[in-house]
Amino acid sequence: MAEDEVIVGLEVHCQLDTKSKLFCGCSTDYRSDAPNTHVCPVCLGLPGAMPVLNKRSIEYAMRVAKALNCSVLEESEFSRKNYFYPDLDKAYQITQYDKPLAEGGYLEIESDEGGEKRIRITRIHVEEDPGRLVHMGNAERGRYSLVDYNRAGIPLIEIVSEPDMRSPKEARKFLNKLRATLEYLSVFDSEKEGSIRVDANISIKGSERVEVKNISSYKGVEKALTFELTRQKNLLRRGQRVERETRHYLEARGVTQSSRSKEQEHDYRYFPEPDLRPLHVMAWLKDIVLPELPDARRERFIAQYGCSLNHARTLTGELRLANFFEKVVAADPEGLSTLADTWIADTLIGELKYRDMGIDAVDPAGFTELLTLLKAGTITDKSGIEVLRVMLDQRRDTQPCETPVAIVDRLDLRKGSFAGTAHTGGERTGGDPLRTSIAEVLAEYPDAVEDFRKGKKGAFNFLIGQLMKKTRGCADPGELNQMLTEELKKEV
Ligand SMILES: [Zn+2]
Repeated sequence: MAEDEVIVGLEVHCQLDTKSKLFCGCSTDYRSDAPNTHVCPVCLGLPGAMPVLNKRSIEYAMRVAKALNCSVLEESEFSRKNYFYPDLDKAYQITQYDKPLAEGGYLEIESDEGGEKRIRITRIHVEEDPGRLVHMGNAERGRYSLVDYNRAGIPLIEIVSEPDMRSPKEARKFLNKLRATLEYLSVFDSEKEGSIRVDANISIKGSERVEVKNISSYKGVEKALTFELTRQKNLLRRGQRVERETRHYLEARGVTQSSRSKEQEHDYRYFPEPDLRPLHVMAWLKDIVLPELPDARRERFIAQYGCSLNHARTLTGELRLANFFEKVVAADPEGLSTLADTWIADTLIGELKYRDMGIDAVDPAGFTELLTLLKAGTITDKSGIEVLRVMLDQRRDTQPCETPVAIVDRLDLRKGSFAGTAHTGGERTGGDPLRTSIAEVLAEYPDAVEDFRKGKKGAFNFLIGQLMKKTRGCADPGELNQMLTEELKKEV
Protein backbone atom coordinates (compact mmCIF):
# COMPACT_ATOMS: atom_id res chain seq x y z
CA MET A 1 0.00 0.00 0.00
CA ALA A 2 1.48 3.34 -1.05
CA GLU A 3 2.08 5.83 1.72
CA ASP A 4 0.09 8.55 -0.01
CA GLU A 5 -3.04 6.50 0.45
CA VAL A 6 -3.00 7.08 4.20
CA ILE A 7 -4.77 10.25 5.31
CA VAL A 8 -4.37 11.66 8.82
CA GLY A 9 -5.76 14.84 10.36
CA LEU A 10 -5.43 15.93 14.00
CA GLU A 11 -7.41 17.93 16.52
CA VAL A 12 -5.09 18.94 19.31
CA HIS A 13 -6.27 20.35 22.64
CA CYS A 14 -3.60 22.18 24.60
CA GLN A 15 -3.95 23.79 28.01
CA LEU A 16 -2.73 27.37 27.95
CA ASP A 17 -0.29 27.96 30.79
CA THR A 18 -2.04 30.96 32.35
CA LYS A 19 -2.13 31.64 36.09
CA SER A 20 -5.91 31.79 36.32
CA LYS A 21 -8.82 30.10 34.55
CA LEU A 22 -10.51 31.32 31.38
CA PHE A 23 -13.58 32.95 32.96
CA CYS A 24 -12.74 33.31 36.67
CA GLY A 25 -9.83 34.05 38.98
CA CYS A 26 -9.31 30.46 40.21
CA SER A 27 -5.70 29.30 40.09
CA THR A 28 -4.77 26.80 37.37
CA ASP A 29 -1.99 25.34 39.49
CA TYR A 30 -4.10 22.50 40.83
CA ARG A 31 -2.13 19.34 40.17
CA SER A 32 -0.72 18.76 43.63
CA ASP A 33 -3.85 19.94 45.46
CA ALA A 34 -6.93 18.16 46.78
CA PRO A 35 -9.89 17.73 44.38
CA ASN A 36 -12.41 20.59 44.13
CA THR A 37 -10.24 23.14 45.92
CA HIS A 38 -9.65 25.40 42.88
CA VAL A 39 -13.29 26.26 42.28
CA CYS A 40 -15.70 29.18 42.56
CA PRO A 41 -19.33 29.88 41.58
CA VAL A 42 -18.26 30.65 37.99
CA CYS A 43 -16.31 27.48 37.24
CA LEU A 44 -18.79 25.42 39.25
CA GLY A 45 -21.56 26.80 37.07
CA LEU A 46 -23.71 28.00 39.94
CA PRO A 47 -26.85 29.89 38.90
CA GLY A 48 -26.33 33.58 38.30
CA ALA A 49 -22.52 33.42 38.17
CA MET A 50 -21.16 35.48 35.27
CA PRO A 51 -18.03 34.65 33.26
CA VAL A 52 -15.34 37.33 32.89
CA LEU A 53 -12.88 36.72 30.08
CA ASN A 54 -9.19 36.32 31.00
CA LYS A 55 -7.47 38.57 28.47
CA ARG A 56 -4.13 36.83 28.92
CA SER A 57 -5.47 33.55 27.59
CA ILE A 58 -6.67 35.27 24.40
CA GLU A 59 -3.23 36.87 24.00
CA TYR A 60 -1.62 33.45 24.39
CA ALA A 61 -3.95 32.00 21.76
CA MET A 62 -3.11 34.91 19.45
CA ARG A 63 0.61 34.20 19.84
CA VAL A 64 -0.09 30.63 18.73
CA ALA A 65 -2.22 31.85 15.81
CA LYS A 66 0.56 34.16 14.64
CA ALA A 67 3.27 31.51 15.03
CA LEU A 68 1.18 29.04 13.03
CA ASN A 69 0.71 31.59 10.25
CA CYS A 70 -3.05 31.84 10.81
CA SER A 71 -5.29 34.84 10.13
CA VAL A 72 -6.87 36.22 13.28
CA LEU A 73 -10.53 36.97 12.60
CA GLU A 74 -11.90 40.50 12.91
CA GLU A 75 -14.65 39.15 15.12
CA SER A 76 -14.81 35.89 16.99
CA GLU A 77 -17.49 34.64 19.29
CA PHE A 78 -18.02 32.30 22.21
CA SER A 79 -20.82 29.76 21.97
CA ARG A 80 -22.45 27.29 24.28
CA LYS A 81 -22.00 23.66 23.38
CA ASN A 82 -24.76 21.84 25.19
CA TYR A 83 -24.41 18.30 26.36
CA PHE A 84 -24.86 16.40 29.57
CA TYR A 85 -21.90 14.69 31.13
CA PRO A 86 -20.79 14.52 34.77
CA ASP A 87 -17.50 16.36 34.11
CA LEU A 88 -19.43 19.32 32.74
CA ASP A 89 -20.96 21.14 35.68
CA LYS A 90 -22.95 23.73 33.69
CA ALA A 91 -24.25 21.10 31.25
CA TYR A 92 -22.66 23.21 28.54
CA GLN A 93 -19.11 24.11 27.55
CA ILE A 94 -18.14 27.61 26.49
CA THR A 95 -16.24 27.25 23.25
CA GLN A 96 -15.91 28.90 19.85
CA TYR A 97 -17.94 27.40 17.06
CA ASP A 98 -18.72 29.21 13.82
CA LYS A 99 -16.54 32.21 14.60
CA PRO A 100 -13.17 30.90 15.87
CA LEU A 101 -10.26 33.10 16.90
CA ALA A 102 -8.14 32.28 13.85
CA GLU A 103 -8.16 30.31 10.61
CA GLY A 104 -6.02 29.13 7.74
CA GLY A 105 -2.38 28.66 8.77
CA TYR A 106 0.35 26.07 8.51
CA LEU A 107 3.17 24.39 10.38
CA GLU A 108 6.26 22.99 8.69
CA ILE A 109 7.50 19.56 9.67
CA GLU A 110 10.20 17.23 8.42
CA SER A 111 8.48 14.91 5.96
CA ASP A 112 9.06 11.17 5.81
CA GLU A 113 11.23 11.80 2.75
CA GLY A 114 13.45 14.17 4.75
CA GLY A 115 12.51 17.57 3.30
CA GLU A 116 10.25 20.20 4.82
CA LYS A 117 6.53 19.72 4.46
CA ARG A 118 3.65 22.08 5.22
CA ILE A 119 0.73 20.83 7.27
CA ARG A 120 -2.16 23.21 6.89
CA ILE A 121 -4.01 24.45 9.97
CA THR A 122 -7.76 24.78 9.52
CA ARG A 123 -8.57 26.77 12.62
CA ILE A 124 -7.64 27.62 16.18
CA HIS A 125 -10.31 28.22 18.77
CA VAL A 126 -10.43 28.91 22.48
CA GLU A 127 -12.57 26.97 24.94
CA GLU A 128 -12.76 25.88 28.55
CA ASP A 129 -11.56 22.54 29.83
CA PRO A 130 -14.19 20.33 31.46
CA GLY A 131 -13.61 18.76 34.87
CA ARG A 132 -11.96 15.43 35.37
CA LEU A 133 -13.53 12.08 36.18
CA VAL A 134 -11.57 9.67 38.34
CA HIS A 135 -12.77 6.10 37.94
CA MET A 136 -12.51 4.02 41.10
CA GLY A 137 -12.88 0.34 41.82
CA ASN A 138 -12.85 -2.33 39.17
CA ALA A 139 -15.26 -4.01 36.80
CA GLU A 140 -16.26 -6.72 39.30
CA ARG A 141 -17.34 -4.62 42.23
CA GLY A 142 -17.37 -1.22 43.81
CA ARG A 143 -17.14 0.61 40.55
CA TYR A 144 -17.84 4.31 40.78
CA SER A 145 -16.51 7.64 39.54
CA LEU A 146 -15.45 10.78 41.35
CA VAL A 147 -15.51 14.19 39.76
CA ASP A 148 -12.89 16.90 40.25
CA TYR A 149 -13.71 20.39 38.97
CA ASN A 150 -10.23 21.82 39.60
CA ARG A 151 -9.61 21.47 35.88
CA ALA A 152 -12.98 22.91 34.84
CA GLY A 153 -12.49 26.29 33.19
CA ILE A 154 -8.75 26.00 32.43
CA PRO A 155 -8.18 27.73 29.07
CA LEU A 156 -7.67 25.37 26.16
CA ILE A 157 -6.91 25.98 22.54
CA GLU A 158 -8.01 23.49 19.97
CA ILE A 159 -5.81 23.37 16.90
CA VAL A 160 -7.43 21.60 13.96
CA SER A 161 -5.22 20.46 11.08
CA GLU A 162 -6.16 19.65 7.52
CA PRO A 163 -5.81 15.94 6.67
CA ASP A 164 -2.30 16.54 5.31
CA MET A 165 -0.31 13.88 7.13
CA ARG A 166 0.47 10.67 5.31
CA SER A 167 1.63 8.36 8.07
CA PRO A 168 1.45 7.90 11.86
CA LYS A 169 5.08 9.01 11.96
CA GLU A 170 4.23 12.33 10.32
CA ALA A 171 1.48 12.79 12.90
CA ARG A 172 4.04 12.35 15.66
CA LYS A 173 6.37 14.84 13.98
CA PHE A 174 3.55 17.35 13.66
CA LEU A 175 2.73 17.00 17.32
CA ASN A 176 6.36 17.31 18.40
CA LYS A 177 6.83 20.41 16.29
CA LEU A 178 3.61 21.89 17.63
CA ARG A 179 4.67 21.20 21.20
CA ALA A 180 8.08 22.81 20.60
CA THR A 181 6.45 25.86 19.02
CA LEU A 182 4.00 26.32 21.91
CA GLU A 183 6.80 26.00 24.44
CA TYR A 184 8.97 28.52 22.61
CA LEU A 185 5.96 30.87 22.80
CA SER A 186 5.86 30.39 26.62
CA VAL A 187 2.17 29.56 26.50
CA PHE A 188 2.30 25.85 27.24
CA ASP A 189 4.02 23.38 29.55
CA SER A 190 4.24 19.90 28.06
CA GLU A 191 5.60 18.49 31.33
CA LYS A 192 2.25 18.98 33.03
CA GLU A 193 0.20 15.82 33.08
CA GLY A 194 -2.84 16.02 30.82
CA SER A 195 -1.76 19.31 29.23
CA ILE A 196 -2.29 17.91 25.74
CA ARG A 197 -5.02 15.67 24.33
CA VAL A 198 -5.39 14.58 20.76
CA ASP A 199 -8.19 13.27 18.58
CA ALA A 200 -7.07 11.90 15.23
CA ASN A 201 -8.88 11.13 12.00
CA ILE A 202 -7.35 8.38 9.96
CA SER A 203 -8.45 6.71 6.76
CA ILE A 204 -7.14 4.82 3.78
CA LYS A 205 -7.97 6.51 0.50
CA GLY A 206 -11.33 5.31 -0.78
CA SER A 207 -12.46 4.03 2.64
CA GLU A 208 -14.39 5.51 5.51
CA ARG A 209 -12.73 7.70 8.09
CA VAL A 210 -12.28 6.64 11.69
CA GLU A 211 -11.91 9.06 14.55
CA VAL A 212 -9.55 7.94 17.31
CA LYS A 213 -10.20 9.77 20.57
CA ASN A 214 -8.52 9.94 23.92
CA ILE A 215 -4.85 10.06 22.95
CA SER A 216 -3.07 11.83 25.77
CA SER A 217 0.63 11.53 25.06
CA TYR A 218 3.07 12.32 22.27
CA LYS A 219 4.22 8.76 21.87
CA GLY A 220 0.59 7.64 22.01
CA VAL A 221 -0.29 9.30 18.72
CA GLU A 222 2.04 7.26 16.58
CA LYS A 223 1.19 4.04 18.44
CA ALA A 224 -2.58 4.56 18.30
CA LEU A 225 -2.52 5.44 14.60
CA THR A 226 -0.18 2.58 13.71
CA PHE A 227 -2.53 0.16 15.44
CA GLU A 228 -5.57 1.69 13.76
CA LEU A 229 -3.94 1.66 10.33
CA THR A 230 -3.03 -2.02 10.66
CA ARG A 231 -6.59 -2.79 11.75
CA GLN A 232 -8.03 -0.99 8.72
CA LYS A 233 -5.57 -2.61 6.31
CA ASN A 234 -6.43 -6.05 7.68
CA LEU A 235 -10.15 -5.41 7.21
CA LEU A 236 -9.62 -4.35 3.60
CA ARG A 237 -7.32 -7.30 2.95
CA ARG A 238 -10.07 -9.64 4.11
CA GLY A 239 -12.51 -7.91 1.77
CA GLN A 240 -14.40 -6.23 4.62
CA ARG A 241 -15.39 -2.59 4.93
CA VAL A 242 -14.02 -0.02 7.34
CA GLU A 243 -16.98 1.38 9.27
CA ARG A 244 -17.20 5.10 9.86
CA GLU A 245 -16.98 5.29 13.63
CA THR A 246 -15.40 6.76 16.72
CA ARG A 247 -12.90 4.61 18.54
CA HIS A 248 -11.13 5.14 21.84
CA TYR A 249 -7.44 4.57 22.30
CA LEU A 250 -6.68 2.38 25.30
CA GLU A 251 -3.17 3.52 26.11
CA ALA A 252 -2.26 0.70 28.49
CA ARG A 253 -3.11 -1.95 25.90
CA GLY A 254 -2.05 0.00 22.81
CA VAL A 255 -5.28 -0.73 20.97
CA THR A 256 -8.30 1.22 19.75
CA GLN A 257 -11.79 0.12 20.69
CA SER A 258 -15.10 1.03 19.13
CA SER A 259 -17.08 3.43 21.33
CA ARG A 260 -20.36 3.42 19.42
CA SER A 261 -21.62 1.06 16.80
CA LYS A 262 -22.52 3.92 14.46
CA GLU A 263 -21.12 7.40 14.57
CA GLN A 264 -23.90 9.70 15.71
CA GLU A 265 -24.02 13.30 14.67
CA HIS A 266 -24.46 14.95 18.06
CA ASP A 267 -26.81 17.84 18.25
CA TYR A 268 -25.01 20.15 20.62
CA ARG A 269 -27.51 22.97 20.05
CA TYR A 270 -24.74 25.56 19.76
CA PHE A 271 -25.82 29.11 20.32
CA PRO A 272 -23.90 32.32 21.05
CA GLU A 273 -22.95 32.65 24.72
CA PRO A 274 -25.30 35.39 25.99
CA ASP A 275 -23.02 36.35 28.91
CA LEU A 276 -19.99 37.22 26.76
CA ARG A 277 -19.69 39.82 24.04
CA PRO A 278 -18.14 39.00 20.67
CA LEU A 279 -14.36 39.37 20.66
CA HIS A 280 -12.64 42.12 18.68
CA VAL A 281 -8.93 41.57 19.05
CA MET A 282 -7.34 43.19 15.99
CA ALA A 283 -6.10 46.10 18.11
CA TRP A 284 -4.11 43.67 20.29
CA LEU A 285 -2.50 41.96 17.34
CA LYS A 286 0.24 44.55 16.81
CA ASP A 287 1.42 44.05 20.39
CA ILE A 288 1.96 40.34 19.87
CA VAL A 289 5.70 39.99 19.31
CA LEU A 290 6.94 36.49 18.59
CA PRO A 291 10.16 35.16 20.09
CA GLU A 292 12.66 33.10 18.09
CA LEU A 293 10.82 29.95 17.01
CA PRO A 294 12.21 26.41 16.53
CA ASP A 295 12.98 26.75 12.78
CA ALA A 296 14.85 30.02 13.25
CA ARG A 297 16.76 28.64 16.19
CA ARG A 298 17.66 25.52 14.19
CA GLU A 299 19.12 27.67 11.40
CA ARG A 300 20.99 29.77 13.94
CA PHE A 301 22.47 26.64 15.59
CA ILE A 302 23.77 25.55 12.19
CA ALA A 303 25.22 28.98 11.36
CA GLN A 304 26.50 29.95 14.80
CA TYR A 305 27.70 26.65 16.24
CA GLY A 306 28.32 24.57 13.12
CA CYS A 307 25.74 21.93 14.17
CA SER A 308 24.74 19.38 11.55
CA LEU A 309 21.16 19.69 10.29
CA ASN A 310 20.07 16.55 12.11
CA HIS A 311 21.65 17.54 15.39
CA ALA A 312 20.29 21.08 15.09
CA ARG A 313 16.83 19.61 14.55
CA THR A 314 17.16 17.42 17.62
CA LEU A 315 18.63 20.13 19.83
CA THR A 316 16.08 22.80 18.94
CA GLY A 317 13.17 20.34 18.86
CA GLU A 318 12.70 20.92 22.58
CA LEU A 319 13.02 24.29 24.27
CA ARG A 320 14.71 22.89 27.38
CA LEU A 321 17.25 21.00 25.30
CA ALA A 322 18.09 24.02 23.15
CA ASN A 323 18.52 26.17 26.27
CA PHE A 324 20.70 23.48 27.85
CA PHE A 325 22.97 23.39 24.78
CA GLU A 326 23.44 27.14 24.81
CA LYS A 327 24.19 27.18 28.54
CA VAL A 328 26.77 24.40 28.13
CA VAL A 329 28.70 26.17 25.37
CA ALA A 330 28.25 29.72 26.70
CA ALA A 331 31.68 29.90 28.35
CA ASP A 332 33.59 28.76 25.26
CA PRO A 333 31.38 28.54 22.14
CA GLU A 334 34.35 28.20 19.76
CA GLY A 335 36.00 25.43 21.70
CA LEU A 336 33.02 23.46 22.91
CA SER A 337 30.19 23.63 20.36
CA THR A 338 31.37 20.78 18.13
CA LEU A 339 31.82 18.50 21.13
CA ALA A 340 28.57 19.64 22.73
CA ASP A 341 26.69 19.06 19.49
CA THR A 342 27.52 15.36 19.30
CA TRP A 343 27.75 14.67 23.02
CA ILE A 344 24.30 16.12 23.72
CA ALA A 345 22.44 15.02 20.58
CA ASP A 346 23.94 11.53 20.35
CA THR A 347 25.17 10.45 23.77
CA LEU A 348 23.37 12.41 26.47
CA ILE A 349 19.86 12.04 25.02
CA GLY A 350 20.29 8.29 24.73
CA GLU A 351 21.59 7.96 28.30
CA LEU A 352 18.70 10.08 29.61
CA LYS A 353 16.10 8.05 27.73
CA TYR A 354 17.60 4.85 29.07
CA ARG A 355 17.12 6.17 32.61
CA ASP A 356 13.75 7.77 31.90
CA MET A 357 15.16 11.14 32.92
CA GLY A 358 14.66 14.61 31.45
CA ILE A 359 17.24 17.21 30.49
CA ASP A 360 16.36 19.21 33.61
CA ALA A 361 18.17 16.56 35.64
CA VAL A 362 21.52 17.52 34.12
CA ASP A 363 23.57 20.39 35.51
CA PRO A 364 24.86 22.43 32.54
CA ALA A 365 27.98 23.52 34.44
CA GLY A 366 28.88 19.90 35.18
CA PHE A 367 28.38 18.96 31.55
CA THR A 368 30.61 21.86 30.45
CA GLU A 369 33.30 20.54 32.81
CA LEU A 370 33.00 17.07 31.28
CA LEU A 371 33.35 18.46 27.74
CA THR A 372 36.34 20.53 28.84
CA LEU A 373 38.08 17.35 30.08
CA LEU A 374 37.37 15.67 26.74
CA LYS A 375 38.57 18.66 24.76
CA ALA A 376 41.81 18.87 26.72
CA GLY A 377 42.41 15.18 26.04
CA THR A 378 42.51 14.47 29.79
CA ILE A 379 40.15 11.54 29.32
CA THR A 380 39.15 9.37 26.37
CA ASP A 381 35.66 9.34 24.84
CA LYS A 382 35.08 6.00 26.49
CA SER A 383 35.96 7.35 29.93
CA GLY A 384 33.78 10.36 29.14
CA ILE A 385 30.78 8.08 28.77
CA GLU A 386 31.68 6.35 32.02
CA VAL A 387 31.83 9.68 33.85
CA LEU A 388 28.52 10.78 32.32
CA ARG A 389 26.85 7.56 33.44
CA VAL A 390 28.10 8.04 36.99
CA MET A 391 26.82 11.66 36.95
CA LEU A 392 23.36 10.60 35.76
CA ASP A 393 23.11 7.61 38.10
CA GLN A 394 24.02 9.76 41.08
CA ARG A 395 21.35 12.29 40.12
CA ARG A 396 18.73 9.61 39.50
CA ASP A 397 19.43 7.82 42.76
CA THR A 398 19.51 11.18 44.60
CA GLN A 399 23.02 10.51 45.84
CA PRO A 400 25.47 13.34 46.45
CA CYS A 401 26.60 14.45 43.00
CA GLU A 402 30.32 14.57 42.30
CA THR A 403 31.89 16.87 39.73
CA PRO A 404 33.28 15.21 36.58
CA VAL A 405 36.84 15.98 37.75
CA ALA A 406 36.15 14.26 41.09
CA ILE A 407 34.73 11.22 39.28
CA VAL A 408 37.74 11.07 36.95
CA ASP A 409 40.12 11.16 39.90
CA ARG A 410 38.20 8.68 42.01
CA LEU A 411 37.97 6.17 39.16
CA ASP A 412 41.52 6.90 38.03
CA LEU A 413 40.40 7.63 34.47
CA ARG A 414 43.03 10.11 33.35
CA LYS A 415 44.60 9.00 30.09
CA GLY A 416 47.55 6.73 30.77
CA SER A 417 46.67 6.47 34.45
CA PHE A 418 46.55 2.68 34.29
CA ALA A 419 50.37 2.92 34.35
CA GLY A 420 50.45 2.12 38.03
CA THR A 421 48.91 -1.29 37.50
CA ALA A 422 49.89 -2.18 33.95
CA HIS A 423 53.49 -1.03 34.09
CA THR A 424 55.83 -3.97 34.56
CA GLY A 425 59.22 -2.78 33.54
CA GLY A 426 59.14 -1.38 30.08
CA GLU A 427 62.84 -0.81 29.44
CA ARG A 428 62.31 -1.67 25.81
CA THR A 429 59.51 0.83 25.41
CA GLY A 430 61.11 3.63 27.32
CA GLY A 431 58.56 3.47 30.13
CA ASP A 432 55.54 4.51 28.03
CA PRO A 433 52.72 2.54 29.66
CA LEU A 434 50.82 2.13 26.39
CA ARG A 435 53.85 0.69 24.63
CA THR A 436 54.45 -1.59 27.58
CA SER A 437 50.93 -2.93 27.30
CA ILE A 438 51.32 -3.45 23.58
CA ALA A 439 54.57 -5.33 24.10
CA GLU A 440 52.89 -7.52 26.70
CA VAL A 441 49.93 -8.31 24.47
CA LEU A 442 52.21 -9.14 21.53
CA ALA A 443 54.21 -11.47 23.79
CA GLU A 444 51.06 -13.11 25.14
CA TYR A 445 49.47 -13.77 21.73
CA PRO A 446 52.25 -14.77 19.31
CA ASP A 447 49.71 -16.71 17.19
CA ALA A 448 47.69 -13.56 16.58
CA VAL A 449 50.85 -11.70 15.59
CA GLU A 450 51.66 -14.55 13.20
CA ASP A 451 48.12 -14.42 11.73
CA PHE A 452 48.46 -10.67 11.26
CA ARG A 453 51.67 -11.19 9.29
CA LYS A 454 49.82 -13.65 7.09
CA GLY A 455 47.39 -10.83 6.33
CA LYS A 456 44.44 -11.81 8.53
CA LYS A 457 42.66 -8.58 9.37
CA GLY A 458 40.72 -10.14 12.24
CA ALA A 459 43.99 -10.65 14.11
CA PHE A 460 44.56 -6.91 14.36
CA ASN A 461 41.12 -6.36 15.82
CA PHE A 462 41.70 -9.22 18.25
CA LEU A 463 44.90 -7.58 19.47
CA ILE A 464 43.14 -4.22 19.83
CA GLY A 465 40.47 -5.97 21.87
CA GLN A 466 43.06 -7.47 24.19
CA LEU A 467 44.71 -4.07 24.55
CA MET A 468 41.42 -2.38 25.43
CA LYS A 469 40.96 -5.01 28.10
CA LYS A 470 44.45 -4.54 29.47
CA THR A 471 44.13 -0.77 29.55
CA ARG A 472 40.63 -1.04 31.02
CA GLY A 473 39.33 1.07 28.18
CA CYS A 474 41.31 4.09 29.31
CA ALA A 475 43.37 4.38 26.15
CA ASP A 476 42.24 6.40 23.17
CA PRO A 477 41.27 3.90 20.44
CA GLY A 478 42.77 6.05 17.66
CA GLU A 479 46.08 6.31 19.46
CA LEU A 480 46.02 2.60 20.26
CA ASN A 481 45.44 1.70 16.61
CA GLN A 482 48.33 3.83 15.48
CA MET A 483 50.76 2.56 18.09
CA LEU A 484 49.86 -1.08 17.56
CA THR A 485 50.41 -0.67 13.82
CA GLU A 486 53.83 0.83 14.52
CA GLU A 487 54.80 -1.94 16.95
CA LEU A 488 53.68 -4.67 14.58
CA LYS A 489 55.81 -3.15 11.82
CA LYS A 490 58.79 -3.29 14.20
CA GLU A 491 58.06 -6.95 14.96
CA VAL A 492 58.33 -7.71 11.24
ZN1 LIG B 1 -13.43 29.50 39.34
